[in-house]
Amino acid sequence: MSTIGWVGLGNMGRPMTANLVKAGHTVNGFDLVPEAVAAAAEHGVNPVKSIAEAVAGADIVFTMLPKGEHARTAYLEPDGVLANADTKTLLVDSSTIDFDSARVLHAEAAKAGFRLIDGPVSGGVTGAEAGTLTFMLGGSDADVEEARPFIEAMAGNIFHAGGDAAGQAAKIVNNMMLSISLQGVVEGAVLADRFGLDPKVFHDIAKVSSGDSWPLRTWYPVPGVTTTAAANNDFKPGFAAALMHKDVGLALAGAETQGVDLPAATLVHAQLQKLMDEDLGGLDTSALIRNIDPNAEG
Ligand code: NAD
Repeated sequence: MSTIGWVGLGNMGRPMTANLVKAGHTVNGFDLVPEAVAAAAEHGVNPVKSIAEAVAGADIVFTMLPKGEHARTAYLEPDGVLANADTKTLLVDSSTIDFDSARVLHAEAAKAGFRLIDGPVSGGVTGAEAGTLTFMLGGSDADVEEARPFIEAMAGNIFHAGGDAAGQAAKIVNNMMLSISLQGVVEGAVLADRFGLDPKVFHDIAKVSSGDSWPLRTWYPVPGVTTTAAANNDFKPGFAAALMHKDVGLALAGAETQGVDLPAATLVHAQLQKLMDEDLGGLDTSALIRNIDPNAEG
């Protein structure tokens, strides 16, 4: 089996590395937070104290970091990945980061003689634990094929989205569309209630009608309607509003650099910001309903 370097052992990195260990790989794991390293070590990750130690002798290196700024630091600083790894080692950044940072990482990695894939994921912590994440990969055919057997231990679906930064692009656009659909569902749920409709009856109608959508079926923001909804559980995430705020922000930042105006995404971003301002960013994204009806149950 192979040696894997891993940087970033947070909510996602910890279960993802646990699945790589289960698949028989040696995983040398580093995080700036010693407690995160210790927690990963409980699942068989070999704890190390620096990026340099994590990448030493690795066949492949994964990074799973919060934002573009963290990824740039972890790759580009003198104590980072590019300055310390062997150029033969394939690099995969699975963080969800802005499109421009992804392109910078590709360009700097290539300049330093490395091969890099952007490989953000969808599926949340439960998907990470179950090894059923969807990976969206951006890079060359050959590099994606080399990474695939490692990724399979963590994935339900693996898509080669296209060339450099295509994985980030797919992830950002997908989540932007999800947030806009969800805003429609929360507004519809409140109006249906005010019209006196039974939420279960309305849900049964909409899910086989043209109002159907993934958030309608999966996240309907009224308790007792869909078993998978955070509304059944006090809006405990799920997918935290703060994370969605970040992802829609990435879409807006990318749209600005591409010279595109996105009115609906701008509106949803402001709605998510309102939750953050009210200290509700830790709730599930479907708590967007509280902006429309502050007394919405959940
Ligand atoms: P997290 O904040 O729980 O973990 C990130 C870890 O990176 C932290 O432990 C932090 O200490 C570490 N870190 C930051 N800078 C570092 C550095 N320079 N060197 C080493 N470690 C460093 O975040 P998460 O929930 O694991 O998410 C990671 C990425 O995955 C994010 O981009 C997020 O948007 C994306 N994502 C998250 C989810 C989810 O449901 N949590 C779902 C899909 C995608």
